[in-house]
Amino acid sequence: MLPLIPAGLMVDQVLPSPDHIAVVTSPRQTSASCPDCWVTPERLHSRYLRRLSDLPWQGRPVTLQVQARRFRCFNRACPRQTFAERLSGTAPAAARRTERLSDLQGHLGLALGGEAGMRLAERLAMPTSADTLLRLVCKAGADAEPPRTPRVLAVDDWAERPKVPCAKRMEWLRRGGAAAVATARPSSIWSATR
Ligand SMILES: [Zn+2]
Repeated sequence: MLPLIPAGLMVDQVLPSPDHIAVVTSPRQTSASCPDCWVTPERLHSRYLRRLSDLPWQGRPVTLQVQARRFRCFNRACPRQTFAERLSGTAPAAARRTERLSDLQGHLGLALGGEAGMRLAERLAMPTSADTLLRLVCKAGADAEPPRTPRVLAVDDWAERPKVPCAKRMEWLRRGGAAAVATARPSSIWSATR
C-alpha cells in the first residue's frame, strides 16, 4: 500500500470533517542532531505543534499536525542552546507546506501563472494565494542549476542567407566567438576560433 503521508511521519490520529482532513502525526526519528555542531542531545526541551498543508485526499484539503520536538544542545562550545528537529524529506525548517505539495503548486504556478494557478489550485483542494505560487516558481528557478552556454549551435542553410532575419544574429555569433556554429554543409562550419 502506498504511504498516504510523508515517509518520515507516523499517523497518530485522523480527524475528518466535511470540507477538511486533519492528520495528527509524530516524527519517526527518535533523535535529532544539532544543526550547528551535529552533536546528538539526550534530553528533550519541549514539544510544539507544527501545521503543514499537504496533498488533498478525496477532494478535501489536508493539514498535517506534527507533534514536533525541541532539543537542548549540551555542547558547551556550541552557540545554540536549543533547536527544533528537522523534518528532512517532509518539509524545510519553518515551512508551512510539505515538500511534495510545494513541488506540485510550483508546477501549477509555472504552467498557469499566479491568478489562473490559484483558481485551479482551489478547485484541486490545495488552496493557496497567487503570490505564493509565484514565489514557489521563483524558488524552483533559484534552486535549479544555471543553464550552461552551448558550445555548438546547429542551424540550417536559410539562416545564412542575408535576407533571413536571423542571419544578422548568426554573423554576430560568428564574429563574437560565443560558440561554434555548425551548418548543414560540413564545409561551412563557423568556428569560434576562426
Ligand atoms: Zn550544538
